[in-house]
Amino acid sequence: MAAMPLTYYGNSVLREVAQPVRKVNAEIKQLVEHMFETMNLERGIGLAAPQVGVSKRVIVLDLSHEGIPPFALINPEIVRATGKDTDSEGCLSIPGVFLPVTRPSKIKIKARNLADRQIVLEADGLLARAIQHEIDHLDGKLFTDMVEDELALQREMAMLGERIQRIERGETTQAEIQEQALQQETVIS
Ligand SMILES: [Zn+2]
Repeated sequence: MAAMPLTYYGNSVLREVAQPVRKVNAEIKQLVEHMFETMNLERGIGLAAPQVGVSKRVIVLDLSHEGIPPFALINPEIVRATGKDTDSEGCLSIPGVFLPVTRPSKIKIKARNLADRQIVLEADGLLARAIQHEIDHLDGKLFTDMVEDELALQREMAMLGERIQRIERGETTQAEIQEQALQQETVIS
């Protein structure tokens, strides 16, 4: 089991509509294991397959800090979305950028699990937000597409290219940048 390199903003795989999984076979199970490992290493609460360069409809989530252990969803689909909630979001593929996004607050989804069974899941709060963020990745959408504060977005995105280059040159890591940005936010607020 090994972590996979993340794909960052500007990589075309993040803008593709990912392919549905026909069968949850050994290859998919191995992909999920690698994604768990990567999410853990990069300290994310969610990860979609395009973020490790694989254009397939697979997402993993880990809200252990809220008592929800890691799980995977294959071909997830939102069947109902209600309510509205605004909260700050970040993304492993967009290091150091945290901005508010408005989304439905409650969702019902159907998906396949790792046993290749159809499941139905209802979620609210952070879990609902994280699942919607990851499903967006499968449709080539990024949370920055939904940010309403244009000025804040421009300011943040101006620094992104250099950050990604520093990660790719091995001078820093995604997790390090996220941590610094979060600390700064705490200081400001
Ligand atoms: Zn993301």
